[in-house]
Amino acid sequence: MTKVLVTGASGYIAKHIVLQLLQAGYEVRASVRSPDRADQILRAVKSHLNITTDAALPLTFVELDLNRDKGWAAALQDIDVLMHTASPFPIDTPVDDEELIRPAVDGTRRALGAAVENGVKRIVLTSSTAAVVYRAPIEAGLPFDESHWSVPHHPACNAYGKSKTLAEMAAWEFVETHATGCDFTTINPGLAIGPALDDRIGTSLQVVQRLLLAKDPALPKIGFACVDVRDVAAAHVRAIDRPATFGKRILAVSEFVWFHELATILSTAYPDRRIPTRLAPAWMIKSLALFNRRVRAVVPNLGVEFNISNQRAIDLLGINFLEPEKSILESARFLIEHDFA
Ligand code: NAP
Repeated sequence: MTKVLVTGASGYIAKHIVLQLLQAGYEVRASVRSPDRADQILRAVKSHLNITTDAALPLTFVELDLNRDKGWAAALQDIDVLMHTASPFPIDTPVDDEELIRPAVDGTRRALGAAVENGVKRIVLTSSTAAVVYRAPIEAGLPFDESHWSVPHHPACNAYGKSKTLAEMAAWEFVETHATGCDFTTINPGLAIGPALDDRIGTSLQVVQRLLLAKDPALPKIGFACVDVRDVAAAHVRAIDRPATFGKRILAVSEFVWFHELATILSTAYPDRRIPTRLAPAWMIKSLALFNRRVRAVVPNLGVEFNISNQRAIDLLGINFLEPEKSILESARFLIEHDFA
């Protein structure tokens, strides 16, 4: 049985990856940074596999922290595939960018270093569109594709964007220098939405939650290249044994949706909630940004539409991306049924 190490297995996306790997017949070693997460993951995955008994699954756990060396060498022993998803993804931008950059970059080097030392031949890294789009505009009318890279010091590139860009750059550099016998692929998802596997909803679903809870009177003109979390997981799993993906970045996105369009989909489905759909003028957002870090983070992206190509994911992975409207409505149903909104 092919053995896969999934790092950051307690995450919103990683739990879907673990589920799909088990469904596809892989053996999974899942890394968590605190042992209490292991039971949560086991429960979440079993409930979606419709297993109610104590039947054993080919799923074991190891403890790993991106900031510490301990455990990495042992965790990668006998592993065929490393799937490195762990990386901090908080809702708020930290005061010090290094809080995100250090674990993302050092953790990626630790994971890849241990993989190469243990002779792992296949690595799939979870990067992001944040490592692609924060840069000078590209030629009008053309979409972003896998040849584009964010520029860490570009004003639109926030701490999270820097952490993902620098981590992915470090990974490619490491692979080119130290891991010539190893096949490497990155999956670069947009904003992942869709039902979570348990009550840990992660940062991206909070975008939908915020609208359902009608937290804002009006919305900034920003938008997201959305993708369903189940398609993101499928991209990771399918990439494992498709040689055409080796040595490539693959953007995993469905479509770009403006925040107010997302709100309109929700307000049409839930007319009893006072979901805001009105746009706030840019001057108002810029004024609020003077006092609020979260608002400040959106200012560089006001009015910016990210047109991102998903052609490579369709061609090489055969993903038939779910339409954002379906993912948005299923996210909302999940959040309401689980008392998050
Ligand atoms: P998430 O639910 O917050 O998961 C992040 C995972 O990383 C968790 O398992 C977390 O562990 C782990 N982690 C964070 N800091 C760590 C550390 N110092 N040591 C060990 N583990 C650590 O986020 P997600 O949305 O699933 O994101 C997963 C991956 O996808 C990340 O690489 C993220 O950048 C990428 N991504 C996400 C999106 C999106 O829209 N969600 C889009 C593009 C890319 P704990 O549970 O212990 O905190």
